[in-house]
Amino acid sequence: MGKYRKEDIFRIVEEEDVEFIRLQFADMFGMIKNVAITSGQLAKALDNRCMFDGSAIEGFVRVEESDMYLYPDLDTFEIYPWRPQQGKVARLICDVYCPDGSPFEGDPRYVLKRVLKVAEDMGYYFNVGPECEFFLFHTDEEGRPTTNTHETAGYFDVGPIDLAENVRRDIVLNLEGMGFEIESSHHEIAPAQHEVDFQYEKGLKAADNILTFKMAVKTIAKRHGLHATFMPKPKAGVNGSGMHINMSLEDAKGRNLFEDPSDQLGLSKLAYQFMAGILAHIKSMTILTNPLVNSYKRLIPGYDAPVYIAWSLAANRGQLLRIPSTRGSSTRIELRSPDSAMNPYLALAACLAAGLDGIKKQMEPPKAIRQNVFTMSEEELKKEGICHLPETLGEAIEEFEKDDFLKAVLGRHVYTKYLEAKKEEWNEFRYQVTDWELGEYLYKF
Ligand code: GLU
Ligand code: MG
Repeated sequence: MGKYRKEDIFRIVEEEDVEFIRLQFADMFGMIKNVAITSGQLAKALDNRCMFDGSAIEGFVRVEESDMYLYPDLDTFEIYPWRPQQGKVARLICDVYCPDGSPFEGDPRYVLKRVLKVAEDMGYYFNVGPECEFFLFHTDEEGRPTTNTHETAGYFDVGPIDLAENVRRDIVLNLEGMGFEIESSHHEIAPAQHEVDFQYEKGLKAADNILTFKMAVKTIAKRHGLHATFMPKPKAGVNGSGMHINMSLEDAKGRNLFEDPSDQLGLSKLAYQFMAGILAHIKSMTILTNPLVNSYKRLIPGYDAPVYIAWSLAANRGQLLRIPSTRGSSTRIELRSPDSAMNPYLALAACLAAGLDGIKKQMEPPKAIRQNVFTMSEEELKKEGICHLPETLGEAIEEFEKDDFLKAVLGRHVYTKYLEAKKEEWNEFRYQVTDWELGEYLYKF
């Protein structure tokens, strides 16, 4: 049973004076799209009769098959606290359907739902807790974003050095107004960089939350005259922004299936197999967890982001997979490569599917690496069998094309369109002559 029935939505809309309802969905690249309706159209929307032109959305359909229907997920009804409080604005996240009543293969939310169903059929429920990092920069006289800041604060600093405590406060309060349970927020390592962590949720809600979170942060920052960016590496020479993903499985009774007090590290066999599955598929999944040309500028040594494919216990932050030290119901694994440019539906679908593949095939992870991987020589890395993550979007594309596993997870439509788009992006970048090249070569050669 869901949280809301149709009657509840009608009642809340009436009682709360909601005037507009945004029917929201995500395109293939995790961009939020919406069509706004007035409350007079709510009955039509809740009967799944609202339509839009799918050909206008990137990665969706061709012009000749363009009618798509929005089926609102009633449990996602929320009022935007930052919009006017009279004639309020609410949103409903929707699934996208074809005119014949079948779910649309290109809807990323459907891709995640499919994998969650596979997990449920095996008796597993996926929990996800993201750690979202972002920068707050100034805008120029015309309101365009810059990478300027006059902040100098660092990790965990407080005001008055931290100039954005009021922005973070406003972000947290607004998100709480939308039902988020915020666990903590703090200044991150780089000047003007911040992190807000919210309570873990079941896979689908966690993905919905990630998109809502980004929208809220950008909106609130704008109110403070700042630009919030989730770009993975907006500035060379300082840390980039990641979105580490904490994952665990539980059973139908809500018991954490990753903990086993009798194991040396307190982890269950299932946790090891899940981790092994992720390690086995990480290279081909990286295009989903790190989707931009710019994502690969973050995955370099020296900035607390992972480069090598290895796992370890809590202490080692440069590692791809880390086991945070809490046990019991909070036992989990933390994947540190993803960044916030990912489409959360597709990236979480890939993570869960890879983990389940590890379970199905009873994979075993390589041994934990206790050393700092960044101080190991090429030879030592080779001896330990440690490979590196793709270093460019181009490499990630090659890995993606090599692994049939993801083709099945994403389905043919998403796989093909996603690949096409990423190839285009990579080629466009390759065709550029950058400022760095001009600075380095123009005079010398
Ligand atoms: N900003 C770092 C990254 O790119 C992570 C810093 C941290 O450990 O929180 O992943
Ligand atoms: Mg962090």
